[in-house]
Amino acid sequence: MQGRVLFIDLTSGKSRIEEDGGLFTEFLGGTAVATELLFRHGNAETDPLSPLAPVIFAIGPFSALYPAATKTVALFRSPLTGELGESHAGGRFAAALRETGIDAIVITGASDRPVFLHIDGQEAKVRSAGTFWGQSAPATDRILREALEQKGRKLSIVRIGPAGERLSPMACATVDSSRHFGRLGLGAVMGSKNLKAIAISGKGSVAISDSEAYGSIYQTLYDRVVRSDEMKKYHELGTPANVLPLNAIRGLPTRNFAQGFFENAIRISGEAFLEEVNVQHIACAHCPCGCIQVAELREKFAPAHYSTVRVSYDYEPIFAVGTQLSISTPQEILRLIAFIEKQGWDCMSMGNTLAWATEAFLSGTIGEAETEGLSLSYGDTRSYLEAMQRISEGKGVFFRDLEKGTAFCASKYGGDHFAMHYGGLEPAGYLTGENAVMTWVAGVRHSHLDDNGYSLDQKLLMKDMPLEEQVRMQVEEA
Ligand code: SF4
Repeated sequence: MQGRVLFIDLTSGKSRIEEDGGLFTEFLGGTAVATELLFRHGNAETDPLSPLAPVIFAIGPFSALYPAATKTVALFRSPLTGELGESHAGGRFAAALRETGIDAIVITGASDRPVFLHIDGQEAKVRSAGTFWGQSAPATDRILREALEQKGRKLSIVRIGPAGERLSPMACATVDSSRHFGRLGLGAVMGSKNLKAIAISGKGSVAISDSEAYGSIYQTLYDRVVRSDEMKKYHELGTPANVLPLNAIRGLPTRNFAQGFFENAIRISGEAFLEEVNVQHIACAHCPCGCIQVAELREKFAPAHYSTVRVSYDYEPIFAVGTQLSISTPQEILRLIAFIEKQGWDCMSMGNTLAWATEAFLSGTIGEAETEGLSLSYGDTRSYLEAMQRISEGKGVFFRDLEKGTAFCASKYGGDHFAMHYGGLEPAGYLTGENAVMTWVAGVRHSHLDDNGYSLDQKLLMKDMPLEEQVRMQVEEA
């Protein structure tokens, strides 16, 4: 790696590139480098939405060079938990960064007007986003692609939706074809800087010093990705392949984590989505697995008139707005996901918060005075769409509060004992046992993917393991 770091100060609109090879040899991997940059340029006491709070993006030495090494990491202070915000996204961002020759980006300051960042090769420009501020996340992607795409240069676009503009701490940043810097509120941090999007493209290449060794390692990894049964499952069904196995072990969180079994799981399984609504499998750049599942949602908007929209789905959204809200058809789940995608919320956070609101309503913790006449009940897609419509329009105090997350709402309205969150972050879709809970409580970002608690719980179904050994494995993973 060159160790090139692009610094952008949105307050002044100025940028510069510094070469810091030592940073990338002392700290191995994008996450380590980005964490170090966050320490250097940030402060743990700074308000996450202050102009002084930095956002760091980084890739690692293998990014975009080996199969499935597709992730870019974002580091920031989370407005949802107040702790470290670490988020990883696939798509084309890592490949585009690699093609620019830039290894990390440090964004500081805040613009006084809506802007987007256009990184073309090693030139970075802060440009006006005034004409598309307020647009949905998918529309922003379309607008920027039409405006910026050049022949022979593939763009990657990271953007926020209106939720990020409203500084919702559960707002995410969407990357290319429905990949996300999810969880922890990167969308709000970008919104606080008036930064609507980052568009990036380059045309550089990487010189390989030992092409024979590179080819051999590449082939080994490629075979592992393409030929293993595990990855075959993910290619064919994607992560929704996990719906039925988790349901079978009573680990599929249902109706605000009240139980781990959803009676209609078979109707919203990966297999059901594939049969009924799937139209495409796509992949992050440089990934031969292609686990991303895309469905087509067809909706009637007037007599004899239909619209169609493509919606990407994964296991986590199916859990968050499916089993958590007791929604039993792929079409209804897609309608909810599509709404969330447009607004740019983290789907897990929104689904969990709607589940909390439903339980709060059904238990009498809140009533129609708070919901202004809207009745919330499990399985009622229309009420959830209406709730999200009101949130997006800022209609009513309760609905404005909902996009601040479960922890905030429970602290204000009550129902803390059924508010599902760890350190302020709504959980992922695993009700597998105590190891998942422990690693979410103790994990740096309180979420899945950076711990193995939920997979350890599943291994323990097959064998006994002394508690000390379980703790040792958790610590090792951490
Ligand atoms: S296509 Fe799927 S398996 Fe491949 S990098 Fe993207 S998310 Fe991972």
